[in-house]
Amino acid sequence: MVLGLLLARAGVRVTVLEKHADFLRDFRGDTVHASTLTLLDELGLGERFAALPQRQFDRARLQLDQGTVQVGDMRRLPGPNKHIALVPQWDLLDLLADAAAEEPTFTLRRNAEVTDLLREGDRIVGVRFTDRTDGSTHELRATLTVACDGRGSAVRAAAGMRPRGFGVPMDVWWFRLPRHADDPTGLVGRFSAGHIMVMIDRGDYYQCGYLIRKGADAGLRAAGIAQFRARLVGLVPWVADRVDAIRSFDDVKLLDVRLERLRRWYADGLLVIGDAAHAMSPVGGVGINLAVQDAVAAARIVAPALRAGGLVPESVLRRVQLRRWWATALVQAGQRLAHRRILGPALSAEDEGRSASQLGGRAEVEAVRPVRVADPFQDAPTESLPPLLRLLRRFPALQGIPARMIAIGPLPEHAPEWARRPTTPVPAAVPEVSESISRSG
Ligand SMILES: Cc1cc2nc3c(=O)[nH]c(=O)nc-3n(C[C@H](O)[C@H](O)[C@H](O)COP(=O)(O)OP(=O)(O)OC[C@H]3O[C@@H](n4cnc5c(N)ncnc54)[C@H](O)[C@@H]3O)c2cc1C
Repeated sequence: MVLGLLLARAGVRVTVLEKHADFLRDFRGDTVHASTLTLLDELGLGERFAALPQRQFDRARLQLDQGTVQVGDMRRLPGPNKHIALVPQWDLLDLLADAAAEEPTFTLRRNAEVTDLLREGDRIVGVRFTDRTDGSTHELRATLTVACDGRGSAVRAAAGMRPRGFGVPMDVWWFRLPRHADDPTGLVGRFSAGHIMVMIDRGDYYQCGYLIRKGADAGLRAAGIAQFRARLVGLVPWVADRVDAIRSFDDVKLLDVRLERLRRWYADGLLVIGDAAHAMSPVGGVGINLAVQDAVAAARIVAPALRAGGLVPESVLRRVQLRRWWATALVQAGQRLAHRRILGPALSAEDEGRSASQLGGRAEVEAVRPVRVADPFQDAPTESLPPLLRLLRRFPALQGIPARMIAIGPLPEHAPEWARRPTTPVPAAVPEVSESISRSG
């Protein structure tokens, strides 16, 4: 959507094909980072964005067994935006789609599932897609085709491109818990040996992501929903009064976590960006920001050739990869380090605790171990913290570094001059929080 909007503002004829009828899906994260907020300001969409129902947070805190520790401080960021906004992604995508629809050269076609590529010799000259409303198939020819269809990219597969995969120790269980008015706001991160959970405040409910060891899904489900509810209460005692809202495992979805990267992000007539080029782990919640930054860089680099009406040479497409590759590789290296050094060991602490049940047979799940929780909202004593966290506590200026890596990233991208607009007023009807939430599902 970002690339479509920018290219349309360059006067390029652009069609975005989206396989679903709407953007109402849960599995993409909600974070809109400081650099994306700045981009929206540059595009003249800051006010419209500010009018969306949202939560904001300017500090990142972890709840450990021994209490809370602050690990990032967005108030130390450079630039006008010093926070991360939490907005359901469908609201952001609708906003972008509305802004793009104001451009005469923009078309969004929903229910359009790309199934194959069109070729002339070695060159990719467009796509074949199915209209999911009636099953009819169509062809769309294009000077340049951009695969931005996510980590399971059908376009990438049709082009015969295979990403390199990096091992990942975990998957995510994704579910909701009711939220009360006096509960913590923003993002709650809970970390304990064997148990890690993130809770995203969406008004009257939390969208929760609970990490499990990769491959442990079937065994944990076999242990029953009561076992899982007990785990949650052990981890976050203040949700004890609402865990019954998870009625069965039908309410708990398994999200397969992947970390992958293509060696080459382009072919003749084709460019691959976002998760299709580099699937991101949820660590740090930075995948949306990177996908947006890819789109901005791509628009800036390819727009001149498209405006001139000619083909986009591979040398130009290569410049997009050169621009974005190192920032992506750096972030993925950080995620791999976090998997290896923090999440992997933390999740296998669970294994140590279950060895007794394993001795008795093939049981997959340990009895729930009580988690030591002091008052989770109190600051953890400094001497109880691991060295890195102790350093962040002692020298708060250092908290600007993780804040910058997460909220801005190593290489922020800015809107090209030709895409900038003065701020546009907020449209009359702005959805209420409750409306947005009921629409979700
Ligand atoms: C559990 C989990 C939590 C995460 N949380 C966060 C977070 O909090 N913050 C964050 O920044 N990142 C988060 N991420 C990562 C983030 O979701 C991705 O990095 C980001 O969505 C990538 O954007 P994208 O546009 O490349 O792909 P996507 O967001 O996956 O979008 C791809 C689009 O293409 C459409 N599509 C797919 N196939 C076709 C087809 N054949 N034809 C037409 N259309 C098609 C899809 O419907 C979709 O609209 C999380 C990831 C996971 C797994």
